[in-house]
Parts: sequence; structure tokens; C-alpha cells
Amino acid sequence: MNGHEALRLESVRKVYGDEGNQVVALDHVSLSLPTGSFTAVMGPSGSGKSTLLQCAAGLERPTGGRVFVDGAELAGESETALTKFRRERIGFVFQQFNLLPTMTVLENVLLPMRLAGKKADTKRAGEILDRVGLGDRLGHLPSELSGGQQQRVAIARAVVTQPKVLFGDEPTGALDTRSAREVLGLLREAVRVYGRTIVMVTHDPVAASFADGVLFLADGRIVGQMADPTAEAVAQRMAHLGDETNGRPNLVGV
Ligand code: ADP
Repeated sequence: MNGHEALRLESVRKVYGDEGNQVVALDHVSLSLPTGSFTAVMGPSGSGKSTLLQCAAGLERPTGGRVFVDGAELAGESETALTKFRRERIGFVFQQFNLLPTMTVLENVLLPMRLAGKKADTKRAGEILDRVGLGDRLGHLPSELSGGQQQRVAIARAVVTQPKVLFGDEPTGALDTRSAREVLGLLREAVRVYGRTIVMVTHDPVAASFADGVLFLADGRIVGQMADPTAEAVAQRMAHLGDETNGRPNLVGV
């Protein structure tokens, strides 16, 4: 196994619903992503993108298969163990930012340390907020910021604990074009400069073009991948998704 592997999925399956009424959201998905990579996950609505992210981040339990983050299996005998695992190894950025509205920018970024029972490192939180361009907004409430600024706070909050993998579920989905580009630039910087590993679900070919590689999902399976994506090439591939489902092994990078 690669020592610099940040995320590994081995034949992950997720089935929703009761017997007789089942939906296979993920169908034996395997993948391996190196540390310091930025991967976009794309596919039609209902193809399993969110489920893939949730299972990889330990927010959902797979029906079968195994998930490893930075070499450690995300098995989680108990919810408490799983929560601890998430807090120590995983960051998550959502479409709707999910900041706590009654807390200031600084308090929101300090929260993960508090939840992990660690000392609230105000200096470190301030430095990270500086880095995302919000060093002068520490005492503001989320409602006093634009959408793009709120998402930058959410990114600062997600990276403050130095997670092994940062997951984004349509992190630019609620932003205007300019704010989206700023946020994507920040994510790319987190990878290039700070060596973070990012997995981002998006439906936007331009957003995907900021990543190093794209995984394409259809019907719960990985049906293709692309290195060094351009927006044009991604849009073209999306238009033909499904043409290549047959006969392809459901394995990427393993
Ligand atoms: P995507 O993010 O690509 O739109 P999802 O991962 O949300 O796809 O969904 C994949 C499939 O799993 C869909 O058929 C969806 O209806 C189903 N699904 C997702 N979440 C649930 C759930 N909590 N209960 C039942 N079915 C679900």
C-alpha cells in the first residue's frame, strides 16, 4: 500500500431502503487518492456523488467494503469512535456553509478545537483567517458577511484541525461566479502550498477544472477519470457519461 495514500475505498457499497425496495447508491466503488491531490467528483443527479462523500467522510456507514483515511480504517465500532475519527482526520465544507449564526467568525473557527477537547488556539485561528483574507472580520457574525466570505470562514474552520482529507459537497454551489473562483483558488492553494488532500463534489465543469483530476460517477459506479481537466473537456465528457459504463472495471488508481 502506498504510504502517501490519503484516502482509500475498497469495494464500497451503499444500499438504501428495505428489502424489496432497495436503491444501490454505491456499487463496489474502489479508489485510491494520494496525499496532496485535489479531486473533483462529477456525475448526473442521483449517481451517488453525495453518498460517496458521506461514506468516505464517515458521515454514513457503507453497507459493505472498507474506507481508509491516511492508512487508518474508518470502521467505527461506535458512533463515538466514528465522531472522534472524523474530528481528528476529516474536514467538511458544505454548500450552505453551516456556520453557527450566533457565533462570531473567530468563534466558529475555534469550535472544532473546542469540540475535540483541545485548547482553543486563537493565534492559529487568526492566522488561518488572515490567510483566507478575513483577518479583519474576526468579531463579525456570519450574517454580516457575503456568501463567499462565509464559505471562506467555513474553509478556515475545516482546516484548523489539519485534517488528512478535506471534503467539499458543492462548496461553490451557492456562490456567484467571482466568489466561487475565490473559494476554488483558496482550495487549490490549500493543496499546492499546504499539501492538503481535497475531494470535492461539483456539477460545474469550471469548478472541476481547478482540481488535478476528475472522477466520473454514473449509477453508483466510477465510469471514468480525467487528469488535468479543462472545463471544456469535462463538459464534453459529462455529455457522454453512460456511453462508457459497459465493460469497464470499477477501479481507479488501485
Ligand atoms: P448524487 O449526489 O449524485 O445526486 P446521491 O448520492 O444523493 O446522488 O444518491 C444516490 C442514490 O441513492 C439516489 O438514487 C438517491 O435517491 C439514493 N439515496 C440517497 N440518499 C438516500 C437516503 N437517505 N435514503 C434513500 N435513498 C437515498
